[in-house]
Amino acid sequence: MVYDCIVIGGGPAGLMTCAVLNSKGINYLLLEKNDSIGKKLLITGGTRCNVTNNLNVDDFISSLTMKHKRFLYGSLNEYGPSDILDFFRKNGLNLILENNLKYFPETNKSSSVLEVLKRNIDLRKLKVNSYVKKIIKKDDIFTIKTNREVYQTKKVVVATGSNSYPSTGSTGDGLLFAKQLGVKYKDFTPAETHVYSKYVSDKLSDLQGVSLVNASVKIVGTKIVNTGGLVFTHFGVSGPAILHSSEFIYEELLSKKVNISFNITENTKEEVISLFEEGKKENKYILKVLEKLTTKRLSKNVLELSIIENKNINEISKKDINKIIEMLTNFIIPIDKVQSKEKAFVNAGGIDTKGINPKTMESKVIPDLYFIGETVDIHGPIGGFNITIALSTGFKCGNNI
Ligand SMILES: Cc1cc2nc3c(=O)[nH]c(=O)nc-3n(C[C@H](O)[C@H](O)[C@H](O)COP(=O)(O)OP(=O)(O)OC[C@H]3O[C@@H](n4cnc5c(N)ncnc54)[C@H](O)[C@@H]3O)c2cc1C
Repeated sequence: MVYDCIVIGGGPAGLMTCAVLNSKGINYLLLEKNDSIGKKLLITGGTRCNVTNNLNVDDFISSLTMKHKRFLYGSLNEYGPSDILDFFRKNGLNLILENNLKYFPETNKSSSVLEVLKRNIDLRKLKVNSYVKKIIKKDDIFTIKTNREVYQTKKVVVATGSNSYPSTGSTGDGLLFAKQLGVKYKDFTPAETHVYSKYVSDKLSDLQGVSLVNASVKIVGTKIVNTGGLVFTHFGVSGPAILHSSEFIYEELLSKKVNISFNITENTKEEVISLFEEGKKENKYILKVLEKLTTKRLSKNVLELSIIENKNINEISKKDINKIIEMLTNFIIPIDKVQSKEKAFVNAGGIDTKGINPKTMESKVIPDLYFIGETVDIHGPIGGFNITIALSTGFKCGNNI
């Protein structure tokens, strides 16, 4: 039998395409290499699944860091966060807004999200334990070879995800197929992940667990700044501002040494100076003044790192005061390494968007071949962006088949 369409990969992207194909009565087949679908989806959002967010399409796109982010306008305009909310609500699952950004299922369980997607496909058309190894195209028909069987189809949708968390099935096979078929791609690289700093683990080990609520993390020597939470860990630094910076740190590290700098106080430089002036009038010890500006542990560290004794602020030289102010507003640490792409939450890289029609998700090089979800060179920060991208591109593709 020649199928109308074969979808490879049962993650959110592939499942959404199948849901649309199902509603159109198209003769499709879903091939999944694991013994069940949605393995990664189940672990998302700490098993609560941050499905989407409350941004409109313009704000959603401007939150992305990729140069080619406009590629997503077509799919997000057709199927964006508000359509995703409607889809789950119509299927009996309300999504609840948290922190005025992220939507989670009312059950607080990612399994409820998967259940809704499963309910929208014909499970008789799902073949699990079907590991696709090769895609060949000849005379308008694709031959798909799995570990067990060979299938024929008129159209193929590749929804195999990236190379992050390979134990969930995302082993980067989309790029293997691209290579087999002559489709251009960029290798997967880590994004949204932690970074390593020997300086932190050796010299600032007592800061482990100390967190900053609103750090502005700059990659020194570039214009890249990301703001948000930051936490010192036993191996380096983490937290949202670091996760968002990680893909750029990775890029920079390929050619040079990288330092990052951030504020360890929420006060501006002017406010810091005026608090120091106040401290002088009140004959305060420097540590007491510092503790008003940052955490106790960081205050102690600032003095140790700048080799300044804890004494009356009036006894400290102007040069040393400036040294402290600089450290509070521009704390610098060298970064040695970014977490691997396999352990990163998301991957940058994937199928080159220049070779995909954003109106259909069809390859411009090979007709009837489609790429969707994280296997494409599109990704977002944490905050429901990535599942939204998977569902949105999955919908766009299904609707155009
Ligand atoms: C720990 C963690 C937490 C996350 N939390 C969130 C979150 O809360 N919100 C959010 O928006 N994003 C989150 N993400 C990112 C999000 O999970 C992914 O971006 C999303 O799952 C991508 O969907 P996808 O369908 O493109 O690919 P995937 O979900 O990776 O699915 C790909 C599927 O294809 C199958 N497959 C692969 N190769 C083959 C093959 N050769 N043959 C057959 N089948 C194959 C795989 O087994 C898998 O089932 C998180 C990621 C991680 C790792």
